[in-house]
Amino acid sequence: MTKFETLGLEQPLLDAISDLGFESPSEVQEKSIPILLEQDTDLVALAQTGTGKTAAFGFPMIQKIHAESRTTQGLILSPTRELCLQITNELKLYSKYVKGLSTVAIYGGASITEQARQIKRGAQIVVATPGRMKDMIGRGMVDISKIDYCVLDEADEMLNMGFYEDIKDILSNTPKEKLTWLFSATMPKEVASIAKKFMHQPVEITVGTKNAGASTVQHEYYVVGGRDRYAALKRLADANPGIFSVVFCRTKRDTQRVAEKLIEDGYNAGALHGDLSQNQRDLVMNAFRKKQVQMLVATDVAARGIDVDDITHVINYQLPDEIETYTHRSGRTGRAGKSGISMVIVTRSEQRKIKTIEKIVKQEFVAKKIPSGIEICEIQLYHLANKIKETKINKEIDAYLPAINDVLEGIDRDELIKKMVSVEFTQFSNYYSKTKDLNTSDSSGERSQKGSSDGGNSGSVRYFINVGERDGYDWMSLKDFLRDTLNLEKEDIYNVDTKDSFSFFNSDAQLTDFILQTFTEFKVDGRFINVEVSKKPGGSGKGGRKRDRKRGHRKGGGNKSFKGGKKGGYGKKGGKKRQGFY
Ligand code: ADP
Ligand code: MG
Repeated sequence: MTKFETLGLEQPLLDAISDLGFESPSEVQEKSIPILLEQDTDLVALAQTGTGKTAAFGFPMIQKIHAESRTTQGLILSPTRELCLQITNELKLYSKYVKGLSTVAIYGGASITEQARQIKRGAQIVVATPGRMKDMIGRGMVDISKIDYCVLDEADEMLNMGFYEDIKDILSNTPKEKLTWLFSATMPKEVASIAKKFMHQPVEITVGTKNAGASTVQHEYYVVGGRDRYAALKRLADANPGIFSVVFCRTKRDTQRVAEKLIEDGYNAGALHGDLSQNQRDLVMNAFRKKQVQMLVATDVAARGIDVDDITHVINYQLPDEIETYTHRSGRTGRAGKSGISMVIVTRSEQRKIKTIEKIVKQEFVAKKIPSGIEICEIQLYHLANKIKETKINKEIDAYLPAINDVLEGIDRDELIKKMVSVEFTQFSNYYSKTKDLNTSDSSGERSQKGSSDGGNSGSVRYFINVGERDGYDWMSLKDFLRDTLNLEKEDIYNVDTKDSFSFFNSDAQLTDFILQTFTEFKVDGRFINVEVSKKPGGSGKGGRKRDRKRGHRKGGGNKSFKGGKKGGYGKKGGKKRQGFY
């Protein structure tokens, strides 16, 4: 494995890299850094989102810049304010041991005079959105006439957003001898023409379409009727109690609408799109970073390049107009070697688009079924049981215990458990028992997933296993674990769904005895691993009025309490209880 030490980086950067915990360079870093350090050349690098492009240009730029001079030497243009801030933050971390180096972000929607003041204090590196940059050049607030390096980051997106003229203008204010480094996920004609017009014999680097994330992302699609999109979205969220996701919509209006509905239905959701004020966008992004918002509903442009780790699911509420955009969306999950799931909600007529996308992502999609109400109830039931088990006992209840004991007197343990679980579960199952199957009738025709999660029928069996994400498993590693333990072929275990503290998987029915036997009295690290055939309680009712189950608001501060929230299922952590049926 290549090490950062071999790329020609100096100690201050290596120290920062070690603080950041980066162990080895990503492919685009390994390819660009030595070239940019050793050669004075223009560069075109094509690499998908999440492949580490910021460091690929950031490390060399920081090393080459003369920190003892206050002159602005490096300019980085990036399409959005969010990206601009993100890059600036990253560069500050990278250069923390480089004395005197200052990086300043300039972007619209914030005080221009304040930004001008920061530049005046001396910023060797300026990270800017094209619009604000042009504005500041026009007002003489920034001088880029002496820069040595210019980076066009997410060049395809900047051009998509109509920044061509601005970029041209800005570049005309820079010296001819500067070096230009262009980074882009795709290479449409417009980007090629920029490269041709404004760059001199650039070295070209392409990083395999399979970026660090791609192979760790599972792509799934769900076929539903056009009017059931929202109901399907809710079920996907309910079937994944620990979800931390970006939900992509096609238009600003849909984005706002879906987010509002989710919030109304009690989910921790937020909207991110271009019609919001900067302040509103900042609030949402901050809440999302802190995981107080579990479902960020966003347009493609607004979410472009957002760098939040640990996103468990990307949900394509609608497919994008441009199929290529799909890779940007799915690249939001499966980052930094973690696994993720990209779900697509499609109607039958859109289903053919899946084939086209498969060619682009070079991976097959799994055709999945929207979980039935019963399946969701089952997941939530296990979740609830675990939540009770994990709940820390609050000392303050001691004083009330005698009275409570009086009330509950005469109820034995079994009955008490049943009653406790029912308190919350009944609301869930009431709601779902009155909902219909959302899957369009013949959606499974063409290539139904091997044994959909229908339990006993179709020769496939679904199992429950008492390990999950909290034990460090994701769907891939759990599949590996099961395969290795059972000594089975890759295809024998499928539909692995990991939840917080438990998981589900399927096998063909003839393996059931063998699997159950293997996991009898089975221990790993002294802990019993228990596998059971997952049973569906009762039958689902039909018809009935559609009613929204209101979920308690789960608010939490930071990662940790979000985890608490995860365990909380549809509980009412922190916030006011907002359940019941309206
Ligand atoms: P891109 O610009 O290609 O979308 P970023 O530069 O935003 O990707 O990097 C994505 C994430 O990966 C960031 O959180 C970054 O800190 C992290 N990262 C970058 N390089 C490495 C590395 N070599 N090892 C581990 N993580 C890295
Ligand atoms: Mg980037």
